[in-house]
Amino acid sequence: MLIVMNQKATAEEIDSVVKVIESKGYTARAIPGGERVSIGILHNQGPVDGSLFLGLPGVKDVIPITKPYKLVSREFKSEDTVVPVGEISIGNGQFTIIAGPCAVESEHQALTIARHVKQAGAQLFRGGAFKPRTSPYSFHGLGEEGLKILAKVRDATGLPIVTEVMDCETFDLVEAYADVIQIGTRNMQNFSLLRRAGRAQKPILIKRGMAATIDEWLMAAEYIMEGGNNQVILCERGVRTFVHHSRNTLDLSAVPAVCKESHLPIIIDPSHAAGRRDQVIPLSRAAIAVEAHGLMVEVHNAPEKALSDGAQSLYPYQFERLCRQVRSIFGVIQNGKSNLKIAASG
Ligand code: PEP
Ligand code: MN
Repeated sequence: MLIVMNQKATAEEIDSVVKVIESKGYTARAIPGGERVSIGILHNQGPVDGSLFLGLPGVKDVIPITKPYKLVSREFKSEDTVVPVGEISIGNGQFTIIAGPCAVESEHQALTIARHVKQAGAQLFRGGAFKPRTSPYSFHGLGEEGLKILAKVRDATGLPIVTEVMDCETFDLVEAYADVIQIGTRNMQNFSLLRRAGRAQKPILIKRGMAATIDEWLMAAEYIMEGGNNQVILCERGVRTFVHHSRNTLDLSAVPAVCKESHLPIIIDPSHAAGRRDQVIPLSRAAIAVEAHGLMVEVHNAPEKALSDGAQSLYPYQFERLCRQVRSIFGVIQNGKSNLKIAASG
């Protein structure tokens, strides 16, 4: 349930609503943003009696929440959430491009790629230091050494760093270096990791589980927000289907579906969806056309020698092409929207 306060509600009026919520053993959570204060009720085991609040001074409305998730839902917060990362804002009506290799392999490799992607238009750099791999015999990342390299890349280029955390043991370490902490598809329902992410001071980019429904994914984001971290970015990276022409199937319909249900920004990772480089640019174009808030793309200076995900990594010249194309598509969409507004007002 959501208690919507009058625009002019006083601190005392808000406080007395909170006291009623707490007297029932529930948790009161102020919802950030908006021109008026709203207070969400969490941890209630059954329906909440709205009449407890309707007559209280300063209360404008009492809205029952129909979804299993609360804090992530548009019912709780109608305005889009914008996640600031340094000088960049994700979800602010522009689109954000995150690019870099699957894994950090060496300082030279990371710096070379970072310089290329920055020049082409990337605003954040990605690279795994802790890699979840299907085989125990594969390269699992450089660990802390990889994080140190990422910090050097940030110093040298100014690009904020996105990197994956795999477990609670290494969370503090990753949090100390990262600007955005990625939780991968395999860990989307690692609930202890999600709880730790809820206590993090950094934004969390949570990928959709490869077999997760939208509801399960939003519930995973709910864990993070329930813990007190409102800085959450969703990332669709393809789901497992029966096809063989791509590694996964990019669920583009997740973008409008999520935007309807949730105020959180959603970006697309076309690289892990495709699993092959020839599909990455077309899928990126589509991602911008469905109005995702950004892209996360794997790029490598020598993909044939990459220690992970070489087949889906773009060459730097292809990434430049991608950036040019998505910029023009973004422009077309924006123009289309302003023309629609002019037509509607004319
Ligand atoms: C990655 O981003 O390199 C990665 C492992 O992604 P996912 O969790 O989507 O497989
Ligand atoms: Mn990868």
